[in-house]
Order: sequence, then C-alpha cells, then structure tokens
Amino acid sequence: GLSAEAYRRHHEITVIGNHVPPPYTTFQSAGFPSEILRELQHAGFSAPTPIQAQSWPIALDGRDIVAVAKTGSGKTLGYLIPGFIHLKNLGSNSQMGPLVLVLSPTRELATQIQDEAMKFGRSSRISSVCLYGGAPKGPQLRDLSKGAHVVVATPGRLNDILEMKKVSLHQISYLVLDEADRMLDMGFEPQIRRIVKEIPPRRQTLMYTATWPKEVRKIAADLLVNPVQVNIGNID
Ligand code: ADP
Ligand code: MG
Repeated sequence: GLSAEAYRRHHEITVIGNHVPPPYTTFQSAGFPSEILRELQHAGFSAPTPIQAQSWPIALDGRDIVAVAKTGSGKTLGYLIPGFIHLKNLGSNSQMGPLVLVLSPTRELATQIQDEAMKFGRSSRISSVCLYGGAPKGPQLRDLSKGAHVVVATPGRLNDILEMKKVSLHQISYLVLDEADRMLDMGFEPQIRRIVKEIPPRRQTLMYTATWPKEVRKIAADLLVNPVQVNIGNID
C-alpha cells in the first residue's frame, strides 16, 4: 500500500499536530469490531474517504480533532464510528444517560445524522435520539426518557430541553460539533457555549467545518484541547 505521506499527498490531506497517526487506507486496517465492518460492507462502501481515513486513527486515540473538509466527504461516519467504539470501550448502557452528543445546525442535517447513526449503530445495539426545533417536544422527550447512548441535536432545541431539566449532559464524554461554521453563521454560539458548560471538561471533542474563518478558529481554541487539525483539499 501507499505510505502515509503518499496517501496524504494523493488525497490532498494536510495534518497539523504532534505525532499524527498514519491514515487507515482500508476498512480492515482500522481494526473495527466485526459488526461495524459488516455494516460498511452492507452499505456497499469499498474504502474509507480521505477524511475518514485520517480522522479515525486520531479519534480512536482519544485526541481532539478539528477537521476542515467540504460537504459530501463522509464526515458523519468519520466521527460516528469512533463514537460507537468509545461507547463500546466504556461498556455503556443507555440508562446511564447519553455519553455521545452531536450538535448539528439544522433539523434536516440532524435527521440525516440520526439516520446514519441508526443504520450503522444498529448491529452494535447503539440507540440514538434526535432533538430539533420546529416540531413538538413531547415525542422527543419521550424518546429521551427511554434512554439513549447518542443524542443528535440542534443547539436551540437542546438548550430548551436542558432548561426544562429533561436531559443531563454530565455523562457526555464524546462531543461533536458538526458543521461548526454553519452553526456560528446561524447565531448558535451562545447556545453552544451554554451546552458545553454542562459537559465535563474531561471529554473528547471533535469539530467539523467546511470553512476555517476566525470565528471558527476562536471557538475551536476555546473548546478543544491540543487538537490535531486535518484539512482535506485547499482551505481558506
Ligand atoms: P459530509 O458530512 O462530509 O457532507 P456525509 O457523511 O453526509 O458527508 O456522507 C456523504 C455520503 O457518502 C453519504 O451518503 C454517506 O453514506 C456516503 N459515504 C460515507 N462514507 C462512505 C465511504 N467510505 N464510501 C462511500 N460512500 C460513503
Ligand atoms: Mg455532514
């Protein structure tokens, strides 16, 4: 196979950080549990996308990541699969309260992430709930009360539910900010900061963004600890 350097060059991956592990250029090299490998095969996927190849070994090392990659690059499984393995390593049970939180800017995107989490997490017995605005809270609160390992949420609705004390984030140890640039553009920074205040600082934080302007750099600097940065393609 290609060396790490050659693979990165070929796929326009740049990494910034100390001792960045080499990319997983095949699914087999990732050492995933067999139920996850089966789901990937079942989906008809033949190889990791570049963002997956490079972010999986970093995330599985427990390190913080900021990844800059454009839409359609396969970011969702880039953070979900290490999140599933994180749950498995913790021997988590869904009655403990959610351990993984994914923040997403819109109902549509949150729903897509939820669908991906259900599809790829099913055989690992991972349960996930999705919380978003523009819909009644009742069914979402009912789903939450049944217990879930993963919460996928828009910042506004999660903040409302937090204020109602209907969810605790004190067990969250794996936090994903997906489409961080878009969440900031939509004015969600205050809600994000309030949510993060509820999460213990001893956590792993992954931030995914399509662009890298100074507002995103600032929140990354505030919320991530010594992150590895992964860029795919040219970033501005
Ligand atoms: P992004 O979040 O970067 O916009 P998504 O995670 O939504 O991208 O992935 C885009 C599409 O690619 C989805 O339909 C997803 O199921 C598919 N996909 C993800 N990983 C792979 C892969 N390794 N090979 C082929 N398709 C993939
Ligand atoms: Mg996405």
